[in-house]
Amino acid sequence: MTADSQRLCRGCFQPIDRRSRKCPHCHAYQQKGFIWAAWLGVLLAAVFVLGILTDVLLTIADHRKQSLRREPPPNYADVVEVQESRLLPPAIHTEQRPQTVPAVIGVLRNNGTQPIASITLQIRCYDSQKKIVDTFQWSYALEIQPGSSVPFKASESSYGNLRPAALPPEDYVSHEVVVVKAHPPTS
Ligand SMILES: [Zn+2]
Repeated sequence: MTADSQRLCRGCFQPIDRRSRKCPHCHAYQQKGFIWAAWLGVLLAAVFVLGILTDVLLTIADHRKQSLRREPPPNYADVVEVQESRLLPPAIHTEQRPQTVPAVIGVLRNNGTQPIASITLQIRCYDSQKKIVDTFQWSYALEIQPGSSVPFKASESSYGNLRPAALPPEDYVSHEVVVVKAHPPTS
């Protein structure tokens, strides 16, 4: 055995045959390729895990974005008809909030094909010269099935700012009811 045909083992540094894959003394593998393959395997596994992690994080971010940008509910105000309505001049309608406010009683009909679960009305009050004297909005969880009618009583009696009647009761001569919003039940 010449010095040229030998080299030192990677594990135990004993002289071994240059061509041997495994050291006869310590059984350590001698090929560089073997170690590279092992490292390549580790690297591929890391890339794979990283890929899955990125995917999961992106999916979570996407869900968050979607929940933030949730579409507003459809508005079926166009198909809600004010079948009849009557203006009640300003009076105290609730003992809890003893303010003098106007009210409107009437009937709403759902001419659409979708059920309605909440309604927002705008009520405009006029004097004998058709000049506007007062206005208020009324939002309520009012269920109206397609093709059916439901009575309502709207007054500025909701929580928050209760504005007393703008003018004396005799100035409240006529009125107008505008359906602003009509939303279906939220699923
Ligand atoms: Zn060895």
